[in-house]
Amino acid sequence: MRAEAGPRRVVLAAMLGVLLGQPPAAAAQTFATDDPVLRAIWDEAMSRSQLEPLAQALLDSLGPRLTGSPGMERAQDWAVGRLQEWGVDAELEEYGTWEGWERGPSHVDLVAPRVRSLEGRILAWSPGTGGRPVEAEATSLPELASAADWRAFLGTVRDKWVMLSFPQPTCRPDPQWVQFQMEGSGLRMAQARQEAEQRWNQSLDVARAASASGGGDGSTADAHAALEAAGAAGIITSQWPGAPGTVRVFDAENRATPTFELSCEDYGLVHRLAANGQGPVVRLTAEAENLGEVPVYNVIGRIEGSELPEEYVILSAHFDSWDGSSGATDNGSGSVLMLETMRVLTEVYPRPRRTILIALWSGEEQGLNGSRAFVEDHPEIVAGIQALWNQDNGTGRVTRISAMGLVDAGGELAEWLSQVPEEVKEYIDVELPGDPGGGGSDYASFVCHGAPAFPLSALSWDYSTHTWHTNRDTYDKLVFDDLRNNVALTASLAYLAAGDDDFVSRRRRDVLTGRGGGPGTWPECRPAQRSSPNAPGR
Ligand SMILES: [Zn+2]
Repeated sequence: MRAEAGPRRVVLAAMLGVLLGQPPAAAAQTFATDDPVLRAIWDEAMSRSQLEPLAQALLDSLGPRLTGSPGMERAQDWAVGRLQEWGVDAELEEYGTWEGWERGPSHVDLVAPRVRSLEGRILAWSPGTGGRPVEAEATSLPELASAADWRAFLGTVRDKWVMLSFPQPTCRPDPQWVQFQMEGSGLRMAQARQEAEQRWNQSLDVARAASASGGGDGSTADAHAALEAAGAAGIITSQWPGAPGTVRVFDAENRATPTFELSCEDYGLVHRLAANGQGPVVRLTAEAENLGEVPVYNVIGRIEGSELPEEYVILSAHFDSWDGSSGATDNGSGSVLMLETMRVLTEVYPRPRRTILIALWSGEEQGLNGSRAFVEDHPEIVAGIQALWNQDNGTGRVTRISAMGLVDAGGELAEWLSQVPEEVKEYIDVELPGDPGGGGSDYASFVCHGAPAFPLSALSWDYSTHTWHTNRDTYDKLVFDDLRNNVALTASLAYLAAGDDDFVSRRRRDVLTGRGGGPGTWPECRPAQRSSPNAPGR
C-alpha cells in the first residue's frame, strides 16, 4: 500500500481543536432506575472523584511496587492508611516470603569511542556495582552454529559486558514504516529484521543448550551463568515492545554480576560500535541491595455485611508491579480503581447487605502468588463469593465482561448491568457463557475453584506496546475519564451484587473448548509459591 504523508496528524489536531471549542459534556446520565444508591454512586464517582490525588500519590511519590521491595511495603502501608481513613477495616495479611531487593540509583554511560549518557538501568534483582563506576568493553553474541562456537566465544568474554538481546535494525514503529515508506521498503525491512532475529535466536538456542546445567535444553539463565563463570563483567539486554522510547524492564536471570538494559536506540548504537570493531566501552554505576527473603503481604480491607456477612463481593487488583517505571497501568490503574470504588461505597453504601472486601494482591507478576495463597488460606471466603471483580489490563474503560464459563451467572450479570447508567454500559460487551480463564491475572486463582470471579476487561490504549512492563508506564498515561467511568461501573456492580436476593449460581458449562478447538477441561488450581526460587532450602 502506498502511504499518504501526514494527513492523520492534521485531522487529529483539527479534531482536538473542535473539541476544545466545545463546552464540556453535560453531566447528564441515563438511569433506568431511581435507586438512590446508584444515583449517589454516580454523583460521588463523577463529582467528587479522588482518583487523581490517589494515583498521583501512589505512582509519583511512592512509585513502583516490586514484590519484596521496600517500595511495595511503603505503598501497602499507604493503602491500608487510606482505607482506614475511610472507615474500612484494613490490614496487611502475610502469606509467605520473597527475595527482597531495593533499587538504588543507576547510571549508564558510553565512554569510548565517544561520550554519551545512555538510557538504561539495571534489571530488578540485579546486583549493582557497589555504587562504583565499572567500565568494560561491550561485546555481542556472535553467530553460533555449535557448542564449540559457544565455548570459543566464552574464551573472549572476560571483563566484558555481553549483549544478549537481538539488536533491532530500526526503532521506528511499524505504522511509521507503513505510512512513509517508498514502495516495498517497509516489507524489505520487516523481512530483513525477521531473518536476522531468527538467526540471533538460533545462536541463543545453541548457547542455552551448550550451557544446560543438569541436562535438558538449557535456559537463558544457564547461558548467563556460563558467561559469568567465564569472567564476563555482566549482561546487557534490550527488549523493545515496538513503540517509540519504550523498553521492557523485567528481572535479572542471575545474581553474580549486573544485568542492565538499554533503550532500543542505545542498545543498537553500542551493538553497531562493537560489530564494527570501534571498541565501545560502557560505564555502569549502580546501587542495589539484596535483602534476602522478606515477608510478603496482601492488603485486605473489609466492610462487614449487615445481613449476610459470610457472603462476599470482592474488589480485586494486583498492587505489585515491575519497577522500570511507576507501574501506572499495570496495575496502578486497577488498584486505584478498587481503592476509589471502596471509598465511594463507604460514602454511599456503608452498611452493605453482604460483606465487601477489597484485595490488593502482591506477587501477581511472579505467578499470581498473593491471590493463590489467599484462596488456599480462606476456603470459606471462596465458598461465599457472590461476585469478584478484577481489573488488570490498563487504564481504559471497561469494554468486556465474561461470565467465565458459569452458565447461570449471565442472568445476574444482565440484571445488574441493566441498572448501570447507559453512559457506562454502552461500551460493554458481555460474553456468555464465556471461557473460564486459567491465567493472566488474579481472577484465575478463583475461577479454577469455580467461584464467580469476573475480569473487567478494558480498552487497550495500546497497553501492550506502550506501557505493559515498560519504562514508560507512568502517571501521564492514565485516562481519568475512562477510570471514573470504571469506578461508577464497579461501585454499581458491587452494590448490586452485595444486595441481590439470589446467590450467584456456580453451575459450569458442560462443554468446554480446548486449545486448538477440541474439547477442553476446567482450569486446574495451581499452588501459591510461598517463597522465592532463590530462598534457602528450595
Ligand atoms: Zn498486571
